[in-house]
Parts: sequence; structure tokens; C-alpha cells
Amino acid sequence: MKNIRHVLGISGGKDSAALAIYMKDKYPSLNIEYYTCDTGKELDETYELIRNLEIYLGKSIIKLQAAEGSNEAPFDHHLKMYGGYLPSSTSRWCTKKLKLEPFEKFVGSDPVISYVGIRGDEDREGYISRKPNIQSIFPFRRNIWSEDVIRKILANDNISKTVRIFKKITLSPNADRLLEIIKIPLTQNFTQLQKLNLLLETGVKEFNQIVFEYLKSTTYPLSNEVSFELIPNEDNLNRDDIFKILEESGVGVPSYYKKVDFEINDEVGQYSRSRSGCFFCFFQQKIEWVWLYEQHPDLFQKAMEYEKDGYSWNQEETLKDLINPDRIKKIKEDCFKRNLKVAKSKSPFLIDILNEDEGCASCFI
Ligand code: SF4
Repeated sequence: MKNIRHVLGISGGKDSAALAIYMKDKYPSLNIEYYTCDTGKELDETYELIRNLEIYLGKSIIKLQAAEGSNEAPFDHHLKMYGGYLPSSTSRWCTKKLKLEPFEKFVGSDPVISYVGIRGDEDREGYISRKPNIQSIFPFRRNIWSEDVIRKILANDNISKTVRIFKKITLSPNADRLLEIIKIPLTQNFTQLQKLNLLLETGVKEFNQIVFEYLKSTTYPLSNEVSFELIPNEDNLNRDDIFKILEESGVGVPSYYKKVDFEINDEVGQYSRSRSGCFFCFFQQKIEWVWLYEQHPDLFQKAMEYEKDGYSWNQEETLKDLINPDRIKKIKEDCFKRNLKVAKSKSPFLIDILNEDEGCASCFI
């Protein structure tokens, strides 16, 4: 059996930071290697968060550099290699070059468990490595397993194997019901998600045990382990829980998440940045560009300087156009209306959840 490594990527966002704290507190015996991929273009608040985390964790966060040996920031180094062609949501060379490649180099061919901070109130998967030696685990979700594992274990042609595994391991009081659910084949009217939810509602620990036993017959990294500490984990953490973890630990919430007032048509609106990542990230909303312009004018100026030779961060307008006073007014009015609508909805955090929906899991979790 090979020794497996446990790794956790710190993006600079709240969720991965909270996950690092959570894992240290809840699973202190796991020897986790914390790492971050530095683009050289993060906000100062991100670097401050990483320093605070290092103090809390009592160990260094390994800084992976995408352009080792270069005297330029990793982003600038690669921008040159791409002939000044700015990345965009349809051509995201930055994620590949600055995040994924350094991570895969760091891991090499070792079997690795990569802990990912996707929350229980999110509906996305995050980075799933295509490399077979990297297995993602999601401790904040009731379903800690990745989609590929779930697809395999719940496949109809796997039912008899799962039944055999189940009979070998479980003495749970819910055993009969779990066995009944396992035997139901997937159909158009009984989807994989429905089956998964039913199994989890009936017994999270038992389901995790079944998956773990199943993995032993595969080449997934966890097949190398005789036990796994997260099997009994029944947590399902949401956005509020994440803020609580950050605040109670003393690490703190990065200040760019804090809402700042702005005036519009004699009313008071609020804006902030909704995620970590490069200060010029093309995934940010228009109101976040306005936030950058008004709260960090020096960084906005630097973002503008990248726009040349016909390249711009937004397809439909340049940053110079975006800071036209009429345009800023319109963006603030739209933001104000959107916030009002959200305030009337059930969740005060809906706007943030919507903002988080789009984007790059490697940069923003
Ligand atoms: S934060 Fe945005 S610009 Fe920076 S690497 Fe990630 S996707 Fe690219």
C-alpha cells in the first residue's frame, strides 16, 4: 500500500480558509499540506488572510509559483507568453497556467486526497482532477464524495456489488431501509440525485462506509487506506457557518467582503467584492469593477493598463468606458434595484450566492 498525501488549496477566499480551520480543529491528526497558487495579482487582503491562517494553523502554507525563476509576477510572465492576449471566461489560460499546472506539478504522481471547500448550500462541483491519483473530498457537504465516485457506485450495473459490500459491513438499525434503496435501479423517474439524497437521509455514515469499501476495489487514492477519518462526518455547512468559523477562530473575514455604502439618487446602496482572485478578474460583476475603481483606484488604474492592442477585460466595454459617470450611475442603480429585490426574498445572502455561481473554483472557493 502506498502512503497517501492530504492537501488543501487556499484560494484566498472565505470557504477554503474556513475549511483549513475546520480540518485542523476537527481532524488534527491528519497531516494536511496547505498550499496556495500565487498569481502575484491578488488583493492585499488575500495575502493578509494567508498570513493569519498560517498563525492559526501553526504551519506554513506552501506558495506554489507558476513562473519559477522569472523576475515577473506569474500572471505577467504568462501574459507575455500569450502575446498580451487577456484571459476571459471562454479562454481561461490563467486558471490552467497559474493554478492547475502548478498544483499538478506539486502533487506529482503521489496518491492524493484534495479537500475542497464547496459548501452544503452550493450546487457545484469545483475542480475535479482528471489525474487518477488526485481524489477530491468535500467535507462541508453532507455528500463528501465527488460526482465521478457517486456515478460509479450508484450505477445500475453496480447494484449487486454494492449489496454484497453492504452485507459485509453494516449492522445499522437502518440497514433494511438502506438495502431496499440500494436495490432500486435508476430510471427517468428515479434519478441518481434522488437516490443519493434518499441514501444520505437514511444514513450518512453507513453510506460513507459503503463508498469507502467500494473504493477499495478501485484505484482511487483512498483504496490505499485502511480507514478514513471523514466516514462519520455528517456536517452540512452553509454560508453563515463559514463566516462563524472565520470569526470565532480569530482569523477573520477578508475585508473585501465587507459591505460599503454608496449613494445613488438620494438612496444608500451597498457594494463589496464577492470573491477572492486577481484584482482584475474578468469574472467580477460590473458593480465590483466600480467598487475597485472607488475603493482601490490604484489597482483599477493597473487593470486599465492591461487593456491595450484591442484587448479588454469585458467583451462589451473597456474599463475606460465603464468609469464614465453616466455608466457608473447606471451600474449603481442596477445594483441598488437588485439588492432591493434580494432583500425581499427569503435569503439575505442570495445576492452573494448568485455572484458566486459563476467563476473559477480554483480561484474563488
Ligand atoms: S482570479 Fe480570475 S483572472 Fe485570476 S487566475 Fe483566476 S480566473 Fe484568472
